[in-house]
Amino acid sequence: MSQITKDVVLAQLKQVTGPDFEGDVVSLGLVSDIFIADNKVFFSITVPSDRAQAMEPLRLRAEKLVKDIPGVAGALVTLTAERKGGRTSDDAPQSRPKPVSPPAPQPRPAAHAHAAPQPQAKPGIPGVGKIIAVASGKGGVGKSTTSVNIAVGLQALGLKVGILDADIYGPSMPRLLGISGRPETVNGRIMKPMSNYGLKVMSMGFLVEEETPMIWRGPMVMSALNQMMREVEWGNLDVMVVDMPPGTGDAQLTMAQQVPLAGAVIVSTPQDLALIDARKGLNMFNKVNVPLLGIVENMSYFIAPDTGKRYDIFGHGGAQREAERLNVPFLGAVPLDMQIRELSDAGMPITVKEPDSPHAQIYRDIAAKVWSQVSGGSTRAAPKIVFE
Ligand code: ADP
Repeated sequence: MSQITKDVVLAQLKQVTGPDFEGDVVSLGLVSDIFIADNKVFFSITVPSDRAQAMEPLRLRAEKLVKDIPGVAGALVTLTAERKGGRTSDDAPQSRPKPVSPPAPQPRPAAHAHAAPQPQAKPGIPGVGKIIAVASGKGGVGKSTTSVNIAVGLQALGLKVGILDADIYGPSMPRLLGISGRPETVNGRIMKPMSNYGLKVMSMGFLVEEETPMIWRGPMVMSALNQMMREVEWGNLDVMVVDMPPGTGDAQLTMAQQVPLAGAVIVSTPQDLALIDARKGLNMFNKVNVPLLGIVENMSYFIAPDTGKRYDIFGHGGAQREAERLNVPFLGAVPLDMQIRELSDAGMPITVKEPDSPHAQIYRDIAAKVWSQVSGGSTRAAPKIVFE
């Protein structure tokens, strides 16, 4: 088999036209350093920060073209935001949240307006202890993967754990946990959660055919979520991890309001682009008085599988700096790792399949930090978020 070289990859990438369809990504100088290890290819493409979503097809095309090169065992392509003088265009001052200290009061009954946030004021789920949301400003940053591995990490602490897949637009728990089939119904109404690896799980993915396009309107979203929360025989759980839908729009805000959350974890990649969105996520939970448990930097750095050498090719450290700046805990950095992806996509979280790996330990550490915050109980106030 011929050796894969950077030149071969670059030649292939010349078929990918740039964001403005003038020239190709290589000639435009948008491709980062290319890293090849074990016949797997890693690189990023720089795109304008305000057009990240629109550039997703470009990313997919680049990834596919590289995978098509004979001998390539895998490709991982990410988008990186263009930096303009250290700040990206959609990071303009007027779009920044105003200083909030303490969290902005919400139009809520007077009883809630005093003292620290009172997330438990909403009706809880009987038998379920703490409910923790895992959220991200945008899709594809590894939110669901992180949710699952945090859940397994919490289990490793001896806790009974459930996962509620609230991403009704793109449920991924059936795939990530290798669960198929439909939940049984008890008494015609209450569903039994599905389970695997000792985790109880409910997901819209169990209830509708995979191919069914799901078009949700506001009230349906809430009724689906309520059904998955309250019409499921969860039994006794110490903690429930809620995989939120990506984004920080109205739908997410409503969900965050409806679920009695003990706190929220934000997952972000180190790139500016994802960070800008993460900041919106922080602000969203702030609005609904849900304590922020911290930020996880996913796909933070890259460790070459052959040499074990570490490469900070994706701008590692961005989320940590942001967490410090915003005064929220930094929960940990998870490397970009082919094994995490492959296992996760094969329905076996790395924390289950390779519990002794350093990556599994990172997730367990994150889970321990999360748990120590929520189980610390009433003595610990939510961190104050101060936007400069
Ligand atoms: P989201 O829930 O944010 O849309 P997913 O958890 O579905 O993201 O992850 C998107 C893709 O990235 C999946 O293919 C997943 O396996 C992969 N992925 C997530 N985290 C990592 C990581 N740390 N290293 C490598 N691949 C990852």
